[in-house]
Amino acid sequence: MGLFDKLKDVTGLGLNAEQQYQRAYEKGVFLQPPNYEAAAKHFSSAEEKFEKDGKNEMAKRAHANSLLYSMIHTKSTENVNSLISFLEQIPEIEFFGSQTEMVPTEKMITEFRALQNELSAEKAENITEKINGYKKAAEIIMKLANESLFYLEKLNVGGPINSAMMRGLYYLAKADYVNAFSIVYQSPEQAQNYLQKAAVGFRQAQSKDWADKTDCHIENIKVKRHCWICGREMQGLGFFYNHYPANTKKYHKEMVEGAKQDIGMLEKENSITLCTVCGSAVETQADIYATKRMRELREWVEPILNSHAEMINRLDSRLSHVESCAHRHTS
Ligand SMILES: [Zn+2]
Repeated sequence: MGLFDKLKDVTGLGLNAEQQYQRAYEKGVFLQPPNYEAAAKHFSSAEEKFEKDGKNEMAKRAHANSLLYSMIHTKSTENVNSLISFLEQIPEIEFFGSQTEMVPTEKMITEFRALQNELSAEKAENITEKINGYKKAAEIIMKLANESLFYLEKLNVGGPINSAMMRGLYYLAKADYVNAFSIVYQSPEQAQNYLQKAAVGFRQAQSKDWADKTDCHIENIKVKRHCWICGREMQGLGFFYNHYPANTKKYHKEMVEGAKQDIGMLEKENSITLCTVCGSAVETQADIYATKRMRELREWVEPILNSHAEMINRLDSRLSHVESCAHRHTS
């Protein structure tokens, strides 16, 4: 190897586009352990060189590879839109980790498109947008039926990745889950139905965390309790009724039982159940009283504090006067 070749090998200076592309594999992808960050940089340099040579097809492939390896290195999904748009411009690309095995970009695009919809559903503040995002993600990913999700697995995105079908079910369950909370204040019964559907979906998708979380919400949302004050029956703990601290004795339980009323009102010790209407009325009124009392207290205490402050100021100036006299006498 001549000196120039050695220099080329160490620095990468003077490499042509193909050599630079090759370098992404040699100094990145094929290293043990692989260095995907370096690979991404070499692909990016190769892209520039291909562009200068007017080899647009290769430039796009280099760019797509640069984005892909960088994404998998950082586990960041922020460039997913850009990656999709480059993959869409090329029919095939090297399989991840290989330089010789070419694969059609179509399946990759499907995986990333589903992810793109999932991410926008997660970000969306509008409920309809959120639900539609998850439904769209499900529709896209389910096209891959029972195939495994190679790229989503590499990105550690969370949720099931062992089959496209399972991920689709997971997305649909997410849509039902969001739907439940969007209508709970209209109809807790309907919300409960959606949550039950979501729980089944999460179980089918083998997403235990989400299934358990959903079960927990179902437990709260399905319970009906009477309000101690107005006597109306309400459904949904935390939505239409809550527990409030109160002095309750054994006598109250016996009385409620004797009258064949809802013993659930006293299910928690030293608490009663109040519907959120009565509960909020009590809270609001208490707040008004507290504010009023605070104002009265301030009106009473402020003049006292002010006169104390004045007195302290007076004493302070007298003290400094005395001190200055004392200094004069000692010096
Ligand atoms: Zn009430």
